[in-house]
Amino acid sequence: MCRRIGVLKGEVVAVDGSKFKAVNNRDRNFTKGKIASRLAHLEAEVGRYIEEADRIDRQETGAARTERAAHLTGRYNRICKEIERLLEMEEKLADAPDGQISLTDPDARAMATRAQHSGHVGYNVQSVVDAETHLIVAHEVTNQGHDRDLLTKMAKQAKAALQREDMHILADKGYFSALEILACHNASITATVPRSDTSGARSKGHYVKADFAYDHSADIYRCPAGQALTHRTTTEQQGLQMRRYWTNACKTCALKKHCTTGYERRVSRWEHEHLVEASNARRRSPAAPMSVRRSTVEHPFGTIKSWTGPCHFLTRRLGGVGTEMALNVLAYNIKRLVALVGIKGLMAAIPG
Ligand code: SF4
Repeated sequence: MCRRIGVLKGEVVAVDGSKFKAVNNRDRNFTKGKIASRLAHLEAEVGRYIEEADRIDRQETGAARTERAAHLTGRYNRICKEIERLLEMEEKLADAPDGQISLTDPDARAMATRAQHSGHVGYNVQSVVDAETHLIVAHEVTNQGHDRDLLTKMAKQAKAALQREDMHILADKGYFSALEILACHNASITATVPRSDTSGARSKGHYVKADFAYDHSADIYRCPAGQALTHRTTTEQQGLQMRRYWTNACKTCALKKHCTTGYERRVSRWEHEHLVEASNARRRSPAAPMSVRRSTVEHPFGTIKSWTGPCHFLTRRLGGVGTEMALNVLAYNIKRLVALVGIKGLMAAIPG
């Protein structure tokens, strides 16, 4: 209907994921790490109780001693039971495919949130939002903690919903994957996704790849010392064809200490690197699409979370929370459309 009345064009959309809390307390979600730290804590407590029991034996007498010993035994037994329960859970975890067990909502997963040292047990809700109208054009509830392989899947859903031949999608660096950008390109979707520098070379005072300028016509990289790095070999890395470039001038180069600790500096170039370079160029363009991304996707998540309050879902399991989120999205889109065209405009658009 939004398409039909000309409200929704969807030339540019933005995708993002947001963590929604499940009906599952953090204490009722188990991972190997959580069990190990809880066991270490309980075992230290057992040690303290044994020391205390020893002291009572030596220093106390009469009714006080009996009473304190009984109290201590009760607490000791409770801790032993908890250790037993955690050890049983540890055994069950070995069979859990993703190394997690949630007791209240078995589909919910512990996942990190953007706030430091914080996390939810919940779901990762993906949504694709039209940059012009802020209408949600596609959404999906997942229980995977990262967004890395969701770009093409969400982009294709949005493109189908918008019935477009082509589309431009904006995403944050959590979605960066060379293969996903290529898959989008093959589906006539332009993806603008920043890539994070994970090498740490810059902080060590070394040149990073961005310091090497690629010359398309000559197929060479020009290094900070002005040398030409030529294509020498092609290797496969994690399914990507990587062309490797280097020069023999490194061994006598005055800048070598800022460049490499190896024999020579090698630069890798993915066979479809031009797609990543085009994405970077769009990101740095004066139109600043990344600020459009932020202001676009944060609006619906903020609105829906303000409706749900601190408990984001009422239902459990993926099927239930998926339906609940679909109703929230429908309500959000209706309210958004009312804001865009008014009640009269909405009523006029609904076929009689
Ligand atoms: S070490 Fe090699 S790649 Fe690095 S600046 Fe010197 S010549 Fe260029």
